[in-house]
Amino acid sequence: MLTTNINKAKKALKNNDIVAIPTETVYGLAGNAYNERALKKIFILKKRPFYNPLIVHIKSTSFLNKIACNIPDTALRLAETFWPGPLTLVLQRKSLIPDLVTSGKETVAIRVPDHPITLALLDQLDFPLAAPSANPFGYISPTSAKHVSNYFKNNLDIILDGGECERGIESTIIGFEDNNPILYRHGSISIDEIEKLVGKITVAVKNDINPNSPGMLSRHYSPSTDTYLTNNVPELLKSFEGKKIGLLLYNKEIISKINVVQEVLSISGNLNEAAKNLYEALHRLDNNNLDAIIAEIFPDKGLGITINDRLQRAAKDCKVIAY
Ligand code: AMP
Ligand code: MG
Repeated sequence: MLTTNINKAKKALKNNDIVAIPTETVYGLAGNAYNERALKKIFILKKRPFYNPLIVHIKSTSFLNKIACNIPDTALRLAETFWPGPLTLVLQRKSLIPDLVTSGKETVAIRVPDHPITLALLDQLDFPLAAPSANPFGYISPTSAKHVSNYFKNNLDIILDGGECERGIESTIIGFEDNNPILYRHGSISIDEIEKLVGKITVAVKNDINPNSPGMLSRHYSPSTDTYLTNNVPELLKSFEGKKIGLLLYNKEIISKINVVQEVLSISGNLNEAAKNLYEALHRLDNNNLDAIIAEIFPDKGLGITINDRLQRAAKDCKVIAY
């Protein structure tokens, strides 16, 4: 189950089994990106629909040419600046990347993860690792080895324990159209940081019918508990009298007459820290037998944009309540 033994993981991966790996964003369910048997196991374990492509994790930027071609200069600049790190680039694939990885698309999503255990593992393998987040499809992403074992219990032999994820929220995904960068998913690297390097970029709109990047699905990253998003927590709370409610708050608790469980993501008001703590807090609230979770809308800047994006998807059936 939980282990820090890279050799065990290496052996399993060479045998086309899957293992959970730590990254700086969230934990991944990894398998040999060249092997269809391993890839199928990932989809089945995660109950992930086959239309949802996987991110391929490589050991270094120099590996990029093995699996992608016609790489725009801007992509190389982004890779050189942010890798290893939480930036995923969607590039034209080479044919050795199976359709199962890309859901039949001609593009493949690639990144170099920034975690010493996973980098050491990749370094010992002669294939890259396809790894989506290690949660059942649609649920909250795991930011600790414990979250992964809670989800998969006895169905996963090896979970490499690399501690808590440093960033705690998924990678930023950038694709290219006519060599121009497009943001497919807000993530750990803020859009400001990307734009500092490449200038103004287009943000792809959510498209539920045929998403360019299924991280764009409007309902995703969801707790099992009904979740509401609002700009006025005390006001919304009034309509939940007699219920057991959890609150997900930015930098301070609220004073409440009714009994509530409160999770404050960053007392010092640091959005990076809030992003790191978001999923751990959501996991805790979701496991607390609550009638509902009320989350507050975060400041719409820096990683606050990414947090709001995830909270909107967590709020099932668009329960976003503004006053
Ligand atoms: P996950 O690792 O589970 O957070 O999901 C991987 C994310 O990468 C999903 O949002 C995918 O839609 C996205 N992705 C993977 N491959 C591609 C691709 N070829 N084009 C666009 N998005 C992709
Ligand atoms: Mg995911």
